[in-house]
Amino acid sequence: MKNISIWRDEKVSFLDCLNNDMNVDVLIIGGGITGLSTAYFLRDKGLSVCLTEKNYIGNGVTTKSTGKITYLQDILKDIDNSEYINSQIYACDLIKRVILKEKINCDYEEVYHYLFSEDKNKLRKIYEKLPTYSMWEDDKLKAKSAVFNPFRFLNALKDICLKSNIKIYENTGIIKIDKDNMKAYTNNGEISFKKCVVATHYPSLVKFLFLPLHSYLEKSYLSAQKVNSYKKKCGISIDKDSRSFRYYKDYYISLDAVSDTSMNFDACAFEDKNTDYRWSNKDIMTVDNMPYIGEVGDNIYIGTGYNTWGMTNGFLAGKIISDLICKKGSRYAKLFNPKREIKVKNYIKFPLFMGISLKAFVKSKLYVSKFVSIREINGVKCLVYKDNKEKLHMVKKTCPHLKCGIIFNKAEEIWECPCHGSKFDIDGKCIEGPSNKDISLRKI
Ligand SMILES: Cc1cc2nc3c(=O)[nH]c(=O)nc-3n(C[C@H](O)[C@H](O)[C@H](O)COP(=O)(O)OP(=O)(O)OC[C@H]3O[C@@H](n4cnc5c(N)ncnc54)[C@H](O)[C@@H]3O)c2cc1C
Repeated sequence: MKNISIWRDEKVSFLDCLNNDMNVDVLIIGGGITGLSTAYFLRDKGLSVCLTEKNYIGNGVTTKSTGKITYLQDILKDIDNSEYINSQIYACDLIKRVILKEKINCDYEEVYHYLFSEDKNKLRKIYEKLPTYSMWEDDKLKAKSAVFNPFRFLNALKDICLKSNIKIYENTGIIKIDKDNMKAYTNNGEISFKKCVVATHYPSLVKFLFLPLHSYLEKSYLSAQKVNSYKKKCGISIDKDSRSFRYYKDYYISLDAVSDTSMNFDACAFEDKNTDYRWSNKDIMTVDNMPYIGEVGDNIYIGTGYNTWGMTNGFLAGKIISDLICKKGSRYAKLFNPKREIKVKNYIKFPLFMGISLKAFVKSKLYVSKFVSIREINGVKCLVYKDNKEKLHMVKKTCPHLKCGIIFNKAEEIWECPCHGSKFDIDGKCIEGPSNKDISLRKI
């Protein structure tokens, strides 16, 4: 069994890191679907564009998703906004058009997406709201959707952008943005920009956004298992702690969403040793269930908060942000404006969000997995894990981001913050944000 996402089990060539200062019109930070689609839509516009990625293209949550492209989403249970549904239908169509136009080989296929629930009335209400080409079948709702391989898609966008003279640097994390002087800093050089797009999933570089106050994290566990037959369909349940599935070649991919992010990893869904791949993923949920896409401060843009539907919303973010940068009108810019007024009724869920975050914080401080032991070294609390070759791995117990506790993720043999989702490799190197720092013990 492999502890990686099925999409990443593929060899790709890596790009160089930045090693000099630069001056560009647009700096894009992050090589996931948001960053690469923004770069794609900005190509050939007469602008100098540079994209920097902390690790490698596709390192983030995009290639840990199930790779479904659909407007039939569980988000519909809370959103009563037909313009939102229109935006998702538009995004599905836009992705399809780009894949066909650019002849992208990413295993794109149109399939039926089923929505199911124990509560048939709830499902029926959604069906009545949806456009006419959704269908009702055996007490399930289905609609035309699509699936693809997100890792191949991102790498194809990368190649198209490189051919259009967009500079892309891997292994180049941005440490800080100075919005007054329009500069971003890396370990090897600084980048001066006129516009900056923060496409880092959790936009922790934009301090004034106070995202933890109006969002929370949803975490899911996924697995892929070889099966005898491929089925041209996928589905999702809209009940609490939803489940989702799809097929990819001769693999069956399934997902269990967990609304309680503090859930103990030892007890997670990976007890089944027969799976061929297993991994986990997280996404940012917002108070009004709508993404934040657009300008947040002078010349700083973000695309985030996709509420687990980032293939459509991330691609749409690329289109909206590029249109805004090129001063073109954008039909959906107002809908997703990050500075929009959020109705008071949406904050009804606020105590729940805070409750989830607080519970995760307290648990993270107290919880020590049965696979690790705790020690104090020079007054610093540390966690120790002995791997199956008897090698010891030691890391700090506190996350550098917002001081939550670190827990051990046995499923993937990594360390992680259960509150905000930062991930660290077995020796404490940060592999996924929002943290920008490691938890290794080198400095103790
Ligand atoms: C279990 C699960 C399944 C999902 N399945 C689907 C699905 O089937 N369909 C769907 O539409 N959506 C799905 N989603 C949602 C979707 O995966 C995300 O919303 C989307 O991929 C977010 O894309 P992104 O570009 O914002 O982030 P990412 O893909 O994480 O990209 C951000 C990139 O920025 C880089 N970065 C971070 N900090 C820095 C820095 N300081 N400097 C430079 N680079 C940096 C990271 O390394 C990363 O590569 C799913 C979510 C979950 C949790």
